[in-house]
Amino acid sequence: MNPSLRHTLTTLRSSFKSKSTTPTAVLDNVLSQFYQSESPPLNLNHFTHSSPIDLSKLKQLASESTSRYAACAPLSSIDGVPISIKANISFPPYPASASSKMLEPYIPPFSADVVQALKAGGAILVGQTNMDEFGMGSATTNSAMGPSINPLPHLHPPASSSPPNLTPGGSSGGSASSVAWRSSFASIGSDTGGSVRLPAAHTNTTGFKPTYGSISRFGLIPYASSLDTIGLIAPTPSDTKLLFDVLRGQSPNDPTSIESSLPPSSPAPLDWSTISVCLPSAYSVEEMPPSVLHIWNETAECLASLGSRVDVLGDDVLSSSTVRTSLAAYYVIACAEASSNLSKYDGVRYGSRARDEAVNYDEEYSRTREEFFGPEVKRRIACGDAVLAREGSHYLKANILRNKLRDSLNTALEQFDFILIPTQTSPPFNLDDPDVKIDQNEMMSNDLMTVGSSLAGLPSISIPVTSPSGPDFWVGMQLIGRHGDDDRLLQAAESLYLKMAEGH
Ligand code: GLN
Repeated sequence: MNPSLRHTLTTLRSSFKSKSTTPTAVLDNVLSQFYQSESPPLNLNHFTHSSPIDLSKLKQLASESTSRYAACAPLSSIDGVPISIKANISFPPYPASASSKMLEPYIPPFSADVVQALKAGGAILVGQTNMDEFGMGSATTNSAMGPSINPLPHLHPPASSSPPNLTPGGSSGGSASSVAWRSSFASIGSDTGGSVRLPAAHTNTTGFKPTYGSISRFGLIPYASSLDTIGLIAPTPSDTKLLFDVLRGQSPNDPTSIESSLPPSSPAPLDWSTISVCLPSAYSVEEMPPSVLHIWNETAECLASLGSRVDVLGDDVLSSSTVRTSLAAYYVIACAEASSNLSKYDGVRYGSRARDEAVNYDEEYSRTREEFFGPEVKRRIACGDAVLAREGSHYLKANILRNKLRDSLNTALEQFDFILIPTQTSPPFNLDDPDVKIDQNEMMSNDLMTVGSSLAGLPSISIPVTSPSGPDFWVGMQLIGRHGDDDRLLQAAESLYLKMAEGH
């Protein structure tokens, strides 16, 4: 890898400022990574297009950014940084397909709030990333254009054999892979129940899901509206903080967005002796392999060595049954809201329309949906319709469980500043392994670790940590913070990340 690609977003920014490299030079390197990943022999399938749609415009923007740094007048902390955008975010002239055949021809007539904010900050938006259709999945295997491939084994190929094609996780699998491969330095994804955190954990990058509502969702194609958030993927926690500061805040376009108090210009360093962190025993589930448990303990020791109080949180505050049922509650709520959100794809107003002549509107509606939705999306719409039937009783019950979980997590966070749990229970599976039958239900069980903070609307961040179990298994550790406490969460995550990297 070219040395300029080893930068994080934070060090890249310093190098632009000190003029040791320029946005133009970095864009060239990023584009060569882009072309390499999207063409034979690699075909890692991170992007929806084999090259950027507007290449000459990108070069012009990079050159303008280079001039601004030369004049010591960057537009923002992300000026000149190559960033990619997930395919469910309005980013014309790219179609907002959400990796679905249904929306393949749909070019949105407006840009998402996040896209406008990035452009206003001088970021170079290099391309659009692959994902699970409408955000439904955990491995990018539900994309209409086929799965993305985890780049890590290709960055560190084994000496004796060819690198395995592992999943990068999902649904923002293309985004996380692109950051790990440095065909972009950061990516804007979405997180409904773990979609930036799981792929970040599988690709050794950082995935940050902020407090629900703290970044405008205007221009994000909805999956499950009471859970959907914009999510950020970048190499390190402090990189996600740079992005968050550019994107946060209330928007008149999104009624669910909330005002955030602007961060102090130079935040005081975190005094770890005043910080407490809990490890809920309810998340120590039987599916978790010993290697992940080991890393969880190591991370807890690292927090203690920083000076934090670290305690186990007992079943009396957060019970195993509350955690177990949260996964069912998540899927009932997500499917119910998805069936409602996706009912608008009728072949008339948006996207694709069935090719065959239909005798009436109802038939055309069914044929369009039969032809253009993928199997997992159909399955979830059917589930959603079923749970909303009988006056929505399942949906209401799921919301009772959701409230119980939220209350338990908030009680824990009254006693502690942060919660620490692993991001995933299993390693990324091999996409080419004939013995691995992709079982959607099994894949859903991996979401157990991430859906809690989504259901409760709390900020959470997956931090990459080094695993003792070999180069083919990367682990993420997740810190969850209080509602609205995103700044302290990001500060704590950065400090923990640095300490873990130094071998604490
Ligand atoms: N894997 C989860 C699902 O399929 C979460 C996906 C997401 O956050 N978009 O619903």
